[in-house]
Parts: sequence; structure tokens; C-alpha cells
Amino acid sequence: MIDAILKKIFGTKHERDVKRMMPVVVETNALESALQALDDAALRGKTDELRKRLADGAEVDEVLPEAFAVCREAAGRSLGMRHFDVQLIGGMVLHEGKIAEMATGEGKTLVATLPAYLNALTGKGVHIVTVNDYLAKRDAQWMGPLYHALGLSVGVIQHEASFTYDPAFATPDIRMTALRPIDRRAAYQCDITYGTNNEFGFDYLRDNMRFSLDELVQRELHYGIVDEVDSILIDEARTPLIISGPAEESTELYYKIDRIIPRLKRAATIVEGKLSEIEEQREGDYIVDEKSKAVSLTEQGIASCERLLSVDNLYDPQHINILHHVQQGLRAHALYRRDVDYVVKDGEVIIVDEFTGRMMPGRRWSDGLHQAVEAKEGVRIERENQTLATITFQNYFRMYDKLAGMTGTAETEAEEFAKIYKLDVTVVPTNRTLLRVNHPDVVYKTEREKFNAVVEDIIKRNEKGQPVLVGTVSIEKSEAVSKLLKKRGVRHEVLNAKYHEREAEIVAQAGREGAVTIATNMAGRGTDILLGGNPDFLSKEILRKKGLDPATASGEDRGAAVAEARQITEPEHQRVVNLGGLHIVGTERHESRRVDNQLRGRSGRQGDPGSSHFYLSLEDDLLRIFGSQRIQRIMERLGMEEGEPIEHKLVTRAIATAQKRVENHNFEIRKHLLEYDDVMNKQREIIYGMRRQILDGESQADNVAEWIEDLVVGTLDSYAAEGAHPEDWDLGGLSEALHRQFDVKIPAAQYDEVVSREGLGELVSEAVKERYAQREHELGEELMRALERHEMLIVIDTQWKDHLLSIDHLKEGIGLRGYGQRDPLTEYKKEAFDLFQDMVERVKAIVVERLFKVQVVRDAPMDLPNITAWADAQESRGALPGEPRSGGWTPAASASAPASAPRPAPVPRTPTGEKIGRNDPCYCGSGKKYKKCHLLQQG
Ligand code: ADP
Ligand code: MG
Repeated sequence: MIDAILKKIFGTKHERDVKRMMPVVVETNALESALQALDDAALRGKTDELRKRLADGAEVDEVLPEAFAVCREAAGRSLGMRHFDVQLIGGMVLHEGKIAEMATGEGKTLVATLPAYLNALTGKGVHIVTVNDYLAKRDAQWMGPLYHALGLSVGVIQHEASFTYDPAFATPDIRMTALRPIDRRAAYQCDITYGTNNEFGFDYLRDNMRFSLDELVQRELHYGIVDEVDSILIDEARTPLIISGPAEESTELYYKIDRIIPRLKRAATIVEGKLSEIEEQREGDYIVDEKSKAVSLTEQGIASCERLLSVDNLYDPQHINILHHVQQGLRAHALYRRDVDYVVKDGEVIIVDEFTGRMMPGRRWSDGLHQAVEAKEGVRIERENQTLATITFQNYFRMYDKLAGMTGTAETEAEEFAKIYKLDVTVVPTNRTLLRVNHPDVVYKTEREKFNAVVEDIIKRNEKGQPVLVGTVSIEKSEAVSKLLKKRGVRHEVLNAKYHEREAEIVAQAGREGAVTIATNMAGRGTDILLGGNPDFLSKEILRKKGLDPATASGEDRGAAVAEARQITEPEHQRVVNLGGLHIVGTERHESRRVDNQLRGRSGRQGDPGSSHFYLSLEDDLLRIFGSQRIQRIMERLGMEEGEPIEHKLVTRAIATAQKRVENHNFEIRKHLLEYDDVMNKQREIIYGMRRQILDGESQADNVAEWIEDLVVGTLDSYAAEGAHPEDWDLGGLSEALHRQFDVKIPAAQYDEVVSREGLGELVSEAVKERYAQREHELGEELMRALERHEMLIVIDTQWKDHLLSIDHLKEGIGLRGYGQRDPLTEYKKEAFDLFQDMVERVKAIVVERLFKVQVVRDAPMDLPNITAWADAQESRGALPGEPRSGGWTPAASASAPASAPRPAPVPRTPTGEKIGRNDPCYCGSGKKYKKCHLLQQG
């Protein structure tokens, strides 16, 4: 047996991998007879024994042979399937955190049980990731008896429900057999959890939007096994997960606040001098500080606002938002000038860079200021809907301590798996020799001729009774083939990957005599096509014909139906084998060779006979856009006649070359998406880490003390710079700022006593600390600590969402800006970093200000953020704004001009867009040549 396996292997790297594992297979096999002697209870006892050995310090690798042997023995008893030796190898590849390439029908569902069992023994949980909900449920139900026999719990995550496998659970609906509903957290607490990539990813994002620990559903991401890994980590990786929801506040509030701003009176403006010099004018509602671009309300101003807005107390926690809006509204009116700081163009407020004078489309002021300016200008306030959380699959799956994958087709994408996920691919030999015949491609001049040939091929096979599976690249093409077949009176089924459960039933019968099935790429993936039909699925049909609902039929009826089905499928199997097995017709080459191989792989499973044939035309997108010239040349050389197809190895090779080019191009797009997401990823880690700490209940007192200290230093620097003469200190401004930020009032007499900057620092610092201590005394320590965590969480969330909005806009805008030869990604990184930095500073300032000012009514329940707001959130998958959209064809131009192509040198322009020569006098009027003046600044 072992020799036989070795003989089938080719390719030195994979050969070496497999050779290395053979001794472990031998070792596992040697344990078999001893385990066979155990009764079921003793076999289950092995689980505890192995768990204990691990707890006592044994390495997971050390117990592998025994765990595999136990799992295999239990599989034989509970599922009637004993893992083949090649499946043990597949299991080892997965355990090593690699990708096991195993052909369709090799039994990957069963393979995954080996490493899942072994790694779940550590108690940390294993996730098995499937491409759709139907498969997650199916696999859990299918493999459930095995885990159950070994005493392991199994969870299933579905889109809006979660379950655990429990054979004792009775339900009238057999589709839900043995699935007991449990809450999501409990499903994640199971030893093994089945679910889709989407659900795992969304649960992760949702967890990071929660407000208390007991709302979190996931545990640490320990070990993930991704089924159909190419589909999930490559095809789906172009579209990130996005949770979006209504923007923070209704836009109405901005307009409402905007209307009262003109009714407030300016008390003073600090331009260069000091507030103390203009102290006597303090009659009025607000003070504008042009130096620090800040506006603050006076006592009188607060009263005015309360009156104008009919609010009793602006410092009440529930109104503190309004206060913030008023401040931003005042800034918008008093400090930001149209056509200087921004322009209004096509109903949008576009920031003008204060240094270069360039317009910065896509950039937004944060924290509600941009909206306030929009309200002031009376234009539409952008974005009712915004990103609340987002992550790419790349970054989600990279968080697992260990990641593994399995699929029938991985090798063509080995480079991407290695580069992005650090996943190696090992090709595991098949259990039986593959017999499928792959015919060389035929190419027609027109699509019409091609489809005619496809139909002829189908009819020829169908007349004999040979089953045919027709693969298409789109639903539209499926419909086209379907129409032609209808015209010719050929019965057939069409699958579009829409209704997974129903389509699984249809595709399971695609191997029946005379079946013709048309399917897009993903339709029915994961469902085994048995020649002659699948008796389990067929039995349901039989029940329905008898007027019984297969979902609720009695066990007896079901057993009888399965037996009846076998009577049909067994002889039919033999007839279909004699006809040559399942024939695959490809109606187009896909962008990626992998997807074509996937289609082909549906035939010839487990040593079945089978064949495949791809039909192409020069009008197909792939040939038209990516390979036409070359292929046309070959065609001419070979002499292609009208209406006559061409079938030649050279053509097949030219097409493969075209596909490789598209694959590379698509890889570039995914890398690009990832490069952008990587910037966010670091920021996300910091924010989510901080949130987690707060939720964990860790005291934030030290953090807060540090932030206060930072702010004190910052405030001192603005009004009494280090090294400045005491006479130049702006004590009035300082006093005003201290009052604003820390609610601190230092008597003038105390300032007078200070002679050194150090002394001033001490005075201020002490006063602020004392004020904070006083607050803590008033509220009590416990409440103060709770308030700290609470304020931090709220402010972090609000600011983070606001930041995500800025990032969205940045991404949209970055491509629009003229950066000369600078790389937009570099610019993006830089700006995203700056934005984040600003956000962190804002978080600190706002949290501190609120901690000093928010009035807490004792015994009143603390007003936790409204969780229902999240409930309105929508989940979606889509290209990040500004990213290449997914799906479909990328324009030929961008494919033939790789990203590295040199860009033409930019034509120098003035900020208003006029061309300007390098030696012309600069537009700024400096008198210098342009190249020596603003050109330098533009870089
Ligand atoms: P894959 O996911 O690799 O395409 P599946 O997990 O769907 O394959 O299994 C294909 C078929 O092979 C199933 O019908 C399963 O019952 C059968 N099978 C897998 N492993 C074994 C085994 N060790 N013994 C018997 N049948 C097996
Ligand atoms: Mg499968």
C-alpha cells in the first residue's frame, strides 16, 4: 500500500513532504489493532487520556499518531468510513499549518477531522471554515457522530442562528437533525466550530463593537482550517467585510445648530497677542483663538445656547454632544473661510491645503467640523451611511495562531498563498489513480459557432445517456446555453449558486444517466457527484413522490426510500461507468486556470472514468482582451477556415499564458487592497486592543493621569512657551484654557507669586491634579473608575468611526489628487498615520475634558451607548471605496500596462490648474523662478 502511494507521487518537493510523513502513517497504522480491541467507552476515554498528556506538558506533535489513530477508529465505527492513508497525510499537512491540495472527491471533509480532533484536545477551539452556510451545517451534521463518539462538542454558526451537534435532540425537520439551537457564544465555546468565512469575520468585527465582555462571542483565534481555501482566501479576498450603518448623528442637528450660530456674539479674538490684553472686552458669548484654531464659550455663551436651543444644562451627559456641535459650528463660522481654507465646488466642501494652496478632494476635517462647514455653506451634508467596521479576509485569517487550508486546486496560486498568508501548498496524492481524459481546447472564430458546437457535444452524449456537466462563467451565459438546449428539446437543470441547499440536491444527481446540468463556477461546490446518482438525495425525491415531506418523514419511511433509491442507483452506476462517466463541458476559459481545474475536477473522482472538453471562441473575453494577437497569429499559421474550429496544443498553451497574465494582474489588485488595509490593520489593532482592555475592566486611572499630564504640558506650551520670558506669558489665555479643559480656576494672586516656568508648571499641574482628586472624592473611587472606562469607550468609538469615515474619504480622494510622481500608497500611509495621530490626540483631549466636566447624577443608571444603533448596521462585502471593484473584467489597458510602467512626468501647474513653465516667475509673486519656489514645495 505504502509503496503504491509513493509510486503515484511526482514533483520532488511534494514527494519529499509526503516521504517525510510516511513513517508517521506507519506508526499510526501500527496502533490500529490495539484500538480495535477497545469498546466505545474505552475509545472515548482516550480523549481524556490525550488531553491529560497535553496538560501535563506533552507536545501536540507527540500525541499526533495516537490521536489520528483514535480519530480514525472512531470514524470507522460512527461514520462507516475509515481514513485512507493518503487522508492521514492530508491531515498531517493541515496540522502543520499548510494547504493540502487534494482532488475533488478525495474526502477532505473527513480529512479535516484528524487535525481538528488533535488540536481541539488543547481546549482552545478549532474553526472549520466553509464557503456557505449549507456546507457548514452539512459538515457538522455529517462529522458530528465522530466527534460525539470521542466526547468533543461541535458548534455550527449560521447566518442568523447557531447550533450545537446533539444526537439526542429531536426535531421534526430532518434538515436540522441533531442540531440543537444554542447562543452564538456557546457555539464558539465548542471544541470544534463550523461556519463560513463571512460569519467568522463579521462576528469578529461585531465583537469589537460591543460594550461589555459578556457580549463577546468569539474566543482567541486559535486554529482555523479553511475548506475550499482558494475560493475563500483568493477569490473572495478582493472584497473586504464591511459593517456600515447610519452616520453618527442625524444631519439635521448640524443645520439646527448652524441656525443659532449667527445669533451668538463674539467676545474677543486672540490673534497674536494675549487674552489678558483684551480682557476688558469679554462681554459676549465666545472667544476665538486664531492661534490654536479654537473657540470657547463664555459663561454667558453657555447660557445663550441653553436658551436658544431650549436645553436646561449643556453639561448634562446627554447634551454634551450638543455642546460639541456648537463649538464646531462656531469654529466653522469664525475660523474657516471660504476660498481660503476651503472651496465649494459642485455642492461639496473641498479643503484647500494651507501650505501649497492645492485642493485636497476627499480630505475631510474630522470630528464634525466638516459637517459644520457644510451646514454653514448650505450644501448637502455628506454621508448618511458610513463604515463602522471593516476588515479584509487576509487580515482576519492572519490573526489565527495557526491556519490551514484544503482544496482541489491550490498549486497554481502557491505564490500568493505563501506571500500573503505564509501558507505552503503540499499536493497529496490521490487515493486511486485519476482516469479522466482532458481533451485539448477547441477554438472557434465566433461565439455563435462555439455554442453550436457545445450543444452538439451535449446532444451527442445525452443521446447515449452519458451525464454532462456544463460549466459557464456567468449566470447570463448559463441562460444562453439553457435557451439553446430548450430549443433542441434537451432536458436540463440550471444552477446559479443562489440556493445552496436546493442546488446541492440537484448537483448531487448530475451523475445520473442522461442528466444535463449547467452550473456557474461556485454552484454546488462541495457536493459530491456520484455516478448513477446519490441514493441519499434520491431518497428524498422518492418520498416527495409518495406525498411525504422528506423533512418530516418517519425514520421507517426514510429507510425504505433509501433502500429503494439504492435499487436504482447501483445498476445505474455501472451503466454510467460503461458510458465513460461524467463528461465536463467548459464553455469558456475562466480568468484563472484554477477555476477551470476546479470544474474539470468534478469528474473522475476516486478513480471514476470521466472526460472534459473546453470550447472557446475568439470572441471570448479572455482571448479578446488578453491573448488575441498571439492566438490569432497561431491560428493564421495553422490556417483557420471559416466555420472550422482549431484544436492544437499551441493554442492551449497560448491560452494558459493569457490566463497567467490575468492571474498576476488579479494578484496585484488583491495585494493593493491588502497594502491599503495593512495601514488600517495596525490602527485597528491598537484601537481594538484598547477597547478590549477597557472591557476587561482594567483600571484606566494611570492612562487618564498620563493623558491629563500630556494635556497640561500642551496647554502650558501654547500660552507660556518653554524659554519664553515671564512677561510674554499669556496668563489670561492660560487661565481661560485651564477653565475650559479642566474646570480649574487658579486665583490671580497665585500666578503673581510664580517667577519661573518650572514654578508655573508645578502650580498648574498641582491645581489640575487637585481638581481631579476632588472630583474623585465627590463621585467615589469606584464610580470614578467606571466613569473613566465609560467615557473612554464612548469617545474611542465615536472618534474611531469618525476616523474610518475620514479614511474612506481619503481613499476616494487620494487617486484624484495630483501627486506628481509620488506614490499614492505612500501618501495614503502618511496621511492615514497623521489622521490617526490626530485622532488619538483628540481622544485624549475629549476624554479628559469630559471627565472633568460631565455631571454625574448618582444612582442614575449610566447612559450606555445605544446598542440598537448597531442593530441597524448592515453587513456587506464590497470593494473598499477607491479600490478596484471586484468581479468582471479589468480593462485591457491596465492589464497590459503593469503598475510599474513609468508615468509621464507631470506638467507643472499653478493651484488653479494653469500650466506654468519651470523657469517662469512663480505664481505666488515671490519673484523667484517657479522651479526654485513653489515647485519645490509641491515635490
Ligand atoms: P471532497 O471535499 O474532497 O471533494 P468529500 O468530503 O465531499 O470530498 O467526500 C467525497 C466522498 O468520499 C463522500 O461521499 C465520502 O463519503 C467519501 N469518502 C471520503 N473518505 C472516505 C473514506 N475514507 N472511506 C469511504 N468513503 C470516503
Ligand atoms: Mg469538499
